[in-house]
Amino acid sequence: MSPSSPHAPDNCIFCKIAAGQIPSRKVYEDDEIFVFHDIHPWAPVHFLMIPRTHMASMADVGPEHAGLLGRMMALAPRLALEQGCKPYPEGGFRMVVNTGAEGGQEVHHLHIHVMGGPRPWLKG
Ligand code: AMP
Ligand code: ZN
Repeated sequence: MSPSSPHAPDNCIFCKIAAGQIPSRKVYEDDEIFVFHDIHPWAPVHFLMIPRTHMASMADVGPEHAGLLGRMMALAPRLALEQGCKPYPEGGFRMVVNTGAEGGQEVHHLHIHVMGGPRPWLKG
């Protein structure tokens, strides 16, 4: 990958958001995970969960990432409730990971969409 590639970490908008170099509406952060509101929400609650370390997509995930991804998945229910999703089963939320062009991925830093809140939603 060339350094000028839009997918390289130096040019990655989500790396810059996690580093605080581009502003975002932060939901949560720890040593390895950063969470912020989507700038174009589809639903009343719509935030993105990213690993601080650059990974382009789920296509790059292997067994060595199981712990990190497990921690991201395990964090989502708590954050969804904190952000206003109603409890399961009447409420709940949707988690989506777009992967690659045919998967609808636009930003090539792995991210989990978490969406919820009363319907109708703008999309989805
Ligand atoms: P995807 O299509 O899965 O790659 O989704 C990328 C998401 O990132 C979209 O929902 C965008 O609205 C969101 N997004 C892009 N730039 C920003 C930004 N600067 N801050 C917050 N969300 C963003
Ligand atoms: Zn990145």
